[in-house]
This record gives sequence, C-alpha cells and structure tokens, in this order.
Amino acid sequence: MQTYDIATIEGDGIGPEVCQSAVSVLTEACGTQRLRFTQLGGGAAHYVKTGAVLPDDTYAACKASHAILHGAAGLPGVTYADGTEVGNDLHLQLRFRLDLFANVRPIRLYSGVQSPLRDWQPGQIDYVIVRENTEGLYASRGGGINLRGEVATDTLVVTRKGVERVARFCFELSRRRQGAPRDGQRRVTVCDKANILRTYAFFRAVCDEVAREYDDVQIDYAYADAITVHMLKKPDFYDVIVAENMFGDIISDLGAGTVGGLGIAASAELGETHGLFQGAHGSAPDIAGQNAASPLATILSGALMLRWLGEQHGDEALRRDADRVEQAVEAVLAAGQTVPRDLGGNASCTEITAAVCRQLAR
Ligand code: ATP
Repeated sequence: MQTYDIATIEGDGIGPEVCQSAVSVLTEACGTQRLRFTQLGGGAAHYVKTGAVLPDDTYAACKASHAILHGAAGLPGVTYADGTEVGNDLHLQLRFRLDLFANVRPIRLYSGVQSPLRDWQPGQIDYVIVRENTEGLYASRGGGINLRGEVATDTLVVTRKGVERVARFCFELSRRRQGAPRDGQRRVTVCDKANILRTYAFFRAVCDEVAREYDDVQIDYAYADAITVHMLKKPDFYDVIVAENMFGDIISDLGAGTVGGLGIAASAELGETHGLFQGAHGSAPDIAGQNAASPLATILSGALMLRWLGEQHGDEALRRDADRVEQAVEAVLAAGQTVPRDLGGNASCTEITAAVCRQLAR
C-alpha cells in the first residue's frame, strides 16, 4: 500500500481551522497509514514574522510531495509596497513555479443546499469551470507599470502552448464526465471576449484547433459578459467551461454563488506532476478564529485531491475514497441537522467536521 506525502500549509485567517478539518476528514476516509500530512509554514503572518510568504523549505517540501493541501492565506493590511496583497503570493508562487496550469472549480448543487436560483434541483447544476491558471491578465502580476502615478498598465498574455494544454485538459475532462445535465451532451464552452481583443480571439482559435481532435465533445462559445447571465438562467446547459485566468476567477465565484457560496466551493490547481488543493475562498478574516467558517470547501477540495492522486497513481481505492467523502458531505447536508452558517444553519466548523467524520465511519 502506497503512502502519499501531503504538504500542508494552513496559512492565515480561517485557513488553519478549515485545513485541520479537512485533514481529520481525509484521515477518517483513508485511515492513518495512507496519507502523511506534513505541516509547513507560509502565508501573510509568516511573512510578517520572517519576510517570506513561501519559505524555501516549504517550497522544497511542496515540490517533493505527492500533493499540496492549503487552507487560505492573506491578512488585511499585509501588502507589498505596490499595494498588492502578500497572502495571495503564496499560491501564486506555487502556481507559477510548479506550473499548475489548470484551476478546476466544480460547480455542483448538493442535496440539502438551496440554490439562490429558483427551481433548480440537485443534479441540474453540475458543471466544471476550468480557469487557465498561469497566463492571461494575471501573468503580468508584478510586471505592470505605474508611470509617475498617472498611468498604470498590466499586459494580458496568451500563448499557444498555454491555451492548447488547458483546452486539451478540458476536452479530456468532458470525456470523463456524463455531459451537461440538460441534454447529456459532452460540451466545452469557451468563455472569452473574442469580439473585442486579439488575445481572446487567439484563445478561441486555439481552442477550436484542439476541438478538432474531439469529435465526441461539442465546442460552444460564450462571451464573458453574456455567460454571467447564462450561468443564472440555464446552468444545466454547462458541462465544462474553459476561461482565461481573470475571467475564470470571476465567473467561478459567480458559479459558487449559484450552489451555496464560497464556503462550499472546491478548487484544484493541477499541472502535469503537481496538484494544489484549497477551497475557492480566501482567508475570510471577518470570521476567523470564531469556529464559524464552513470547512466544506476545503473538505471537498480534499476529495478532489484523493481523486487526482488516484488517477495519477492508478489507485482505485483513493478514487473510491474521494467519492465517499463527497457522499458523506452530501448526506450531512441532506439530513439538515448540521448546516454551516453560510448555508443558513448554525453549525460550527468543528461540528461539521465531526458530522462528516461520523457519516464516513458508518
Ligand atoms: P480572496 O481575495 O483571497 O479570494 P476575499 O477577501 O475575496 O479573498 P474571502 O476571504 O473568500 O474573500 O471571503 C469573502 C466572504 O465570504 C467573507 O464575507 C467571508 O466571511 C465569506 N467566506 C469565505 N469563506 C468562507 C467559509 N469557508 N465559510 C463561511 N464563509 C466564508
């Protein structure tokens, strides 16, 4: 039986609470022998203490691990001289240095969660947003120009290599799914502004080229502004959506909102050899240290980690454990006794953790 090394960075704000919760649930699901969690320093508070948001030894341990589990990083007021937040740099550095090009954000309505969209039931909203994670507008972070306090610019970067690999990732992902809830059609929707900017027209053209290799998956297009309406009015139409970095960042929060909010939104950042798993939310300093955060996003990100490890290493048991974690979360929510505060209940972070662990132990 293989043991997997999981580099674990709790981070700031609610990061430690939700990360510890996920570690408990994953240990309950897989037993104590199969996952070896190593706690590592990093984040905004660590930066204040030491001057490093991602210390060298943490980076080395992440690189050497089978997967990385992260809570969240960032503290109000801890910023660089240019005004940007220090905390974000933790996962941004990991993203770029480990080349985690596909940011996978499942948008799935669970039983027991009421969508703010009237009339949509579990099973009807079930798609994945894949955000290109290493280029686009955010590629120029730190490289933009603020000229004499009069003009500021950042540059949007799109490369053939970058689009090809994320597009191929999406078509392959669609092949492993059951198609869109509306019609069972396997579909990759390209979200861009090809009508306005050359970079996005190029993004679309490269997606078109990749689509020719996948006759069984339909290619579909939506402008980034229009898709915000479609995601509310016909969420069942979507299977996989691929978007440039910034558009993906924005629409994945919107998608999360349609299925309960950031507290339940999982995220996986994947490259060829490394994977970083953390909830789609930030460090939520407004509720930190109160045992009030929902750990579900991190727990469900942990399930994505098990599935990815299972696929990478041909470990069928881990894939089953991923399903079991998701089913346990769904069973707890459907029972309606232990509901996180952001979903209208009053359960604490530790109560939710215990309920999911109990469900897994059944
Ligand atoms: P970032 O820019 O790092 O993504 P942010 O400042 O945009 O972070 P979050 O930290 O994600 O935002 O918080 C946004 C809101 O969502 C806050 O009001 C926060 O309380 C709420 N929130 C975020 N995560 C959770 C969670 N796990 N449980 C409950 N509420 C959450």
